[in-house]
Amino acid sequence: MFSNLARPKAIFSMWLIIQERMLTADRLSKWNMNVDTTCVFCKCQPEHHHHLFYNCSTIMEVWCDIFKWLQIPVPANTWSQLLCWFVGKAKKKTAEGQLLRMVLAETVQEMAGFPLNCLTEDSDPVILPSRLLGNYGPRWDAMRRKKQNI
Ligand SMILES: [Zn+2]
Repeated sequence: MFSNLARPKAIFSMWLIIQERMLTADRLSKWNMNVDTTCVFCKCQPEHHHHLFYNCSTIMEVWCDIFKWLQIPVPANTWSQLLCWFVGKAKKKTAEGQLLRMVLAETVQEMAGFPLNCLTEDSDPVILPSRLLGNYGPRWDAMRRKKQNI
């Protein structure tokens, strides 16, 4: 496995998310659990894996902000394409690869954790990019500077 400087919790969540094993509302509903199947972010579309991590209009804004910060045009139109792009870039043993591994893990961790966090914190998903960049931005900036020096 490639080294990843993200938090272990984020790396584990990323692994579950890549395997599409997160307990999204559609999966819980299939197990006859009584849950609201509406997306927790946009509150207007059914919640399923690809919607929750990419297709949702609210989540797309998060990805746009992340890629704007990375200074890379959004490289995909679907979750599957985004994942392929990350895997292709992140498997490289370069500073860029290291940065992208951490960005993917921490970003999807924040997305996955948001429904739980909104029980106790600010429930507006527009805070996700600023929270991500506030929490991890300085570390990512240092890694990006290292990438540019190589
Ligand atoms: Zn949505």
